[in-house]
Amino acid sequence: DGEVVRCIGCGAKVQTTDKTALGYTPESALKKGLENGEVYCQRCFRLRHYNEIAPVSLSDDDFLKLLTSISDTDSLIVYVVDIFDVNGSMIPGLHRFVGNNPILLAGNKLDVLPARLKKTKVKDWLRQQANAAGIRPVDVELISAKTNLDVDRLLDQIEKYRNGKDVYVVGVTNVGKSTLINSIVRQSTGIKELITTSRFPGTTLDRIDIPLKDGKLLVDTPGIIQPEQMAHHLVGKELNLVTPQKRIKPKEYQLNPAQTLFFGGVARFDYNSGEGKAGFTVYVENNLYIHRTKLENADEFYPKHVGNLLTPPSEENKADFPPLEAHEFKTTQKSDLVIEGLGWVTVPEGVSVSGWAPKGVSVLLRPAMI
Ligand code: GDP
Repeated sequence: DGEVVRCIGCGAKVQTTDKTALGYTPESALKKGLENGEVYCQRCFRLRHYNEIAPVSLSDDDFLKLLTSISDTDSLIVYVVDIFDVNGSMIPGLHRFVGNNPILLAGNKLDVLPARLKKTKVKDWLRQQANAAGIRPVDVELISAKTNLDVDRLLDQIEKYRNGKDVYVVGVTNVGKSTLINSIVRQSTGIKELITTSRFPGTTLDRIDIPLKDGKLLVDTPGIIQPEQMAHHLVGKELNLVTPQKRIKPKEYQLNPAQTLFFGGVARFDYNSGEGKAGFTVYVENNLYIHRTKLENADEFYPKHVGNLLTPPSEENKADFPPLEAHEFKTTQKSDLVIEGLGWVTVPEGVSVSGWAPKGVSVLLRPAMI
């Protein structure tokens, strides 16, 4: 009715006739947008659903140039990691590239952490993991980009540490960086939902500049593919059965030595030896099927049942799923055997256990967090 509709992303006048011109929006999208009060032009809509911006590989030349161009800036780096996949979240060499710029570490997916787990312990652990990778964050924050938990706190910390400088948000794919950027854009009143895009100098990679109150920018960088992630071996629904969706409810198992637990077909846990029956607590996605069997049968059992009883992977995808590899540990204290991207098993002191995961996926032991 004569009223001009503007894209809340770029401010362009929305039109539905010329696909190549500024502000183009398909008729159906405009209708939907008007219904929920959020009209975007097609370009900004795609930006908001960043998946359309092709991620880059860690070895990519463009990626190295991107890091170099960040190192040339005077800025705050916000490094987003998945607290369930810290190794799979690592950007190798990041510490060399950030130069003297401070790094604020944001551990994402706090909403699925079991209720009994203390945040301070997780923070300490994250900091240690970062230190081991040569990174000394000025601070560690735990957030949930999905539920907005403590995102406002993170924004306060960003404000505190950026000292009037630009902010670069970096992270590998699947850690929830896009979800976080969207959450920041929604929450920040000063930002007024304005997003602009340009390129990283000398690369084909898009950067998204979100203006901050003082004229500085919050820059979203493209996701980088870290191939050593469980997530890269699974698709769609399969991935949802492995990635915790809701707060994890721990499951208790009393196991005898030489017993095995299969976690769907994606991982396996063996209680190799120890002084008799012992208690183990499993922290994985609540709906993932756990199958208990004898260790002596486990090697034979897996190929027979993977893709059906032991799923994910599904029957169609099992051929592409990498074989499971064993990582053996002996505990000298109560410990968590962590299978990255999946969860962990709390193991008592003085036992020998093995964690099996697809080749490349990290399996590690840490002092028990609970
Ligand atoms: P990106 O590749 O780093 O941009 O990651 P996305 O934002 O696309 O998120 C990857 C997956 O993790 C999606 O399935 C999200 O729904 C999920 N995710 C993102 N943030 C959170 C979070 O805070 N909690 C939980 N449980 N899942 C999240």
